[in-house]
Amino acid sequence: MQPNREGFLHPVIDDTKCIDCKLCEKACPGLSPAYNENAERKTFVVQNCDDRVRYESTSGGAFSALAEEIIRRGGIVFGATMTDELKVVHFCVETVEGLAKFRNSKYVQSEIGDSYLQAKSALEEERWVCFSGTPCQINGLIKYLGRDYEKLLTVDVVCKSVPSPLIFEKYVEHRRKHEGVLSDIVFRDKKRGFQYCTMAHYQSHDKRKQADDCYRKGSESDEWLRLFLSGKIARRSCMNCSYQTLQRTSDITLGDIWETGNSQLDDNKGTTLVHAWTPLGKEFLEKAQEKAKVVEMQNRDNGTVRKNTIMLYQNREQLFEDAQKLNVDAFFAKYAPYSMTIMVKQYSRELLWRLNLQTTIRKVKHFIIHKIK
Ligand SMILES: Cc1cc2nc3c(=O)[nH]c(=O)nc-3n(C[C@H](O)[C@H](O)[C@H](O)COP(=O)(O)OP(=O)(O)OC[C@H]3O[C@@H](n4cnc5c(N)ncnc54)[C@H](O)[C@@H]3O)c2cc1C
Ligand code: SF4
Ligand code: SF4
Repeated sequence: MQPNREGFLHPVIDDTKCIDCKLCEKACPGLSPAYNENAERKTFVVQNCDDRVRYESTSGGAFSALAEEIIRRGGIVFGATMTDELKVVHFCVETVEGLAKFRNSKYVQSEIGDSYLQAKSALEEERWVCFSGTPCQINGLIKYLGRDYEKLLTVDVVCKSVPSPLIFEKYVEHRRKHEGVLSDIVFRDKKRGFQYCTMAHYQSHDKRKQADDCYRKGSESDEWLRLFLSGKIARRSCMNCSYQTLQRTSDITLGDIWETGNSQLDDNKGTTLVHAWTPLGKEFLEKAQEKAKVVEMQNRDNGTVRKNTIMLYQNREQLFEDAQKLNVDAFFAKYAPYSMTIMVKQYSRELLWRLNLQTTIRKVKHFIIHKIK
């Protein structure tokens, strides 16, 4: 695998050794995705009972509750973590404490490395394995394994796109110029609550434990979150993704839910919307009740099936060329400028948060949207 000009890893074939058997094309989740025709969805909202775990997680900490059961069964859990060098990679752990590495979404494409290989060898030893990742990564694992394993639990996330690791490197370089030491990044930090999740930077893991941040901005103003959410730096294959379907190959899908409609659950600490597609997924959701509040919820969706595709950014070629040519400050000033509008948005959001008015505004907004529909 080698990075392309945009920083995304791609397979490279050695033509002198290739015998044109096309096996790689059959195994490639991009060229021939797999589907589960028997998938039957049941939907739940989940909140981990451990407040610390819930705080550290992106939404309700459902993933930790599910993965703990795998560890209890002597199994091994795979997920995306951030290294000390601030690279996002897949990794595996075998302890409950180790699960902290996977908590919180890392909005950068994660490098799979040899984790498919490791998962396969654990399954061959008849151990329980939980593998989490984006829907295409789960599809890749299923295709790589080539057969069913009874002790494999696959967990994917609601996913609209993954952004470029190369541009993330530039972002880290840019922020380090302003902040100096920077060795921990949380993409969805809850210091200001779940309703106003913010990108937070810390000088060390200890500083993070003390919530002593050196940078904090929301999705309305942080350069990385703005570029990510705009789709400008998404992987090209995300523009015609085949995995946002009701025939998912995963056992479980996790996503955010901002309002459950139940005032006892909507406490601004985070809730996960969980879809269980298979009998194994449903069995694990039942087990998760020992660690988390699990409430079945009908007719709720949060984009498991794609409704609106990301459009190809018209200046994409120029953007990636500039990433190589411009210095990092100039690059971000060009593609994510801190304009007057952004400043107004930032201060308004901060004010609403300080006045504790976010929930009310959100409810009014939802009410108006539902009325219009
Ligand atoms: C790139 C990306 C885009 C997403 N987009 C949406 C969205 O548009 N709408 C929505 O409702 N939810 C989205 N999610 C899912 C959401 O952010 C939470 O992951 C989900 O709510 C689970 O939260 P939790 O508190 O239960 O688990 P957490 O403890 O927060 O668990 C995080 C899980 O995500 C996995 N993960 C983290 N980063 C990556 C990564 N880079 N690549 C692969 N796997 C990763 C971990 O392995 C772990 O299993 C996205 C997640 C990612 C990674
Ligand atoms: S799997 Fe077959 S077609 Fe693909 S690179 Fe290897 S030899 Fe070539
Ligand atoms: S949008 Fe689709 S192709 Fe892109 S990372 Fe998510 S699942 Fe994979």
